[in-house]
Amino acid sequence: MTIAIVGAGLGGLALARVLHVHGIDAVVYEREASREARGQGGMLDIHSGQRALREAGLIDGFLAIARGEGQDMRLFEPDGTLLLQEDTPDDAPLDRPEVDRADLRDLLLDSLPDGTVRWGHAFTSADDGVLRFADGGSAPYDLLVGADGARSRVRPMCTDARPAHIGQNVVELGIPDVDRTHPDLAATLGRGNYWVLGDGVSFAAQRNGDGRVRIGISFYRTDEDWFSRSGIPFDDPAAARARLIELLPGWDARFTALIAACDDTVVPRSISTLPAGLTWPSTPGVTLLGDAAHLMPPVGEGANMALLDGAGLGLALAAHPDDFPAAVEEYEREMFERTGAAARMSARVQELLTSPDAARKMLAFFQPD
Ligand SMILES: Cc1cc2nc3c(=O)[nH]c(=O)nc-3n(C[C@H](O)[C@H](O)[C@H](O)COP(=O)(O)OP(=O)(O)OC[C@H]3O[C@@H](n4cnc5c(N)ncnc54)[C@H](O)[C@@H]3O)c2cc1C
Repeated sequence: MTIAIVGAGLGGLALARVLHVHGIDAVVYEREASREARGQGGMLDIHSGQRALREAGLIDGFLAIARGEGQDMRLFEPDGTLLLQEDTPDDAPLDRPEVDRADLRDLLLDSLPDGTVRWGHAFTSADDGVLRFADGGSAPYDLLVGADGARSRVRPMCTDARPAHIGQNVVELGIPDVDRTHPDLAATLGRGNYWVLGDGVSFAAQRNGDGRVRIGISFYRTDEDWFSRSGIPFDDPAAARARLIELLPGWDARFTALIAACDDTVVPRSISTLPAGLTWPSTPGVTLLGDAAHLMPPVGEGANMALLDGAGLGLALAAHPDDFPAAVEEYEREMFERTGAAARMSARVQELLTSPDAARKMLAFFQPD
């Protein structure tokens, strides 16, 4: 019985690893040419996903690459008022540490036997137990798992649902090697997460393991065509930075200085999600996990859910090795319930971020008493 996983992201790799721990082989087909083909960029906040890493026998490896100080938090209003500052003590438990996405992916990849991941295999379609790839190749399968992310090509085999824009457009920028290039700004930023929340705009900065500060400026209550009307010239990074500063009138000079210090990587990203609580009738021979199954607003749940999906499906298949449909049904039941709750919670956080007094609302969210 051949298990074919499409997508070597966190969810697909967690599944392959848990299957391997239970002595079950699987093949992962990934469209990227190699593990280095695309920068993985960015930090992930891993909390509930640690359970999956424990099932995968990788929790010690995870704790070795996790950054506890990444849990630090500073929350401001646009006029510069500091609402919240949390600095993580050195001996604090690693409840929500940050980890470099590339390090986590490497941990999973290195835990699999050579040849498990078939690089350069872009899935295009499947029928009658045969997968087809963009280069004309094919491969057999008994169970197909779509772990191919937000724009999944496997998804239509399970559901007609499509991601829809949620009125958020993000511009991503960054300051390279901040401690060396801008020590003054580095001190302002601290070690972890730095948030400025305004009316319809948020500024999020986060220090990465390699010293780069990644910045995301989100414009809420905007439609899918907003970038074309925004006046941000993405082909001229210096002018794009100037325009972004213009779009933040009245913002404290400390925040606009961070934008001015960014390098020439200025990337637009439109945010879409699947409907919260999406389910589908169990389909023989195919299922989904991770963003392919439940794309959520980017508020820190997606990677955790993808890891838990992978581990959950792996355990269900290990419990029913001769009955894939029963394993898939058991997995989907648990996954729908868990990810439905996470998607609803993410939607509530997204609503707070979108509201006119987002900073005060987030403060209340972090300090409920
Ligand atoms: C900026 C940003 C920050 C985030 N921060 C957090 C965070 O702090 N915490 C958190 O929990 N979540 C976070 N998320 C969400 C998280 O990144 C995703 O939910 C998670 O990566 C989903 O994992 P996945 O395995 O489902 O998909 P992915 O990681 O997207 O992997 C999908 C894989 O499938 C491959 N693929 C796609 N199409 C094909 C095809 N046709 N054939 C073969 N292979 C294919 C892709 O190349 C990719 O390797 C963040 C997301 C963004 C954008």
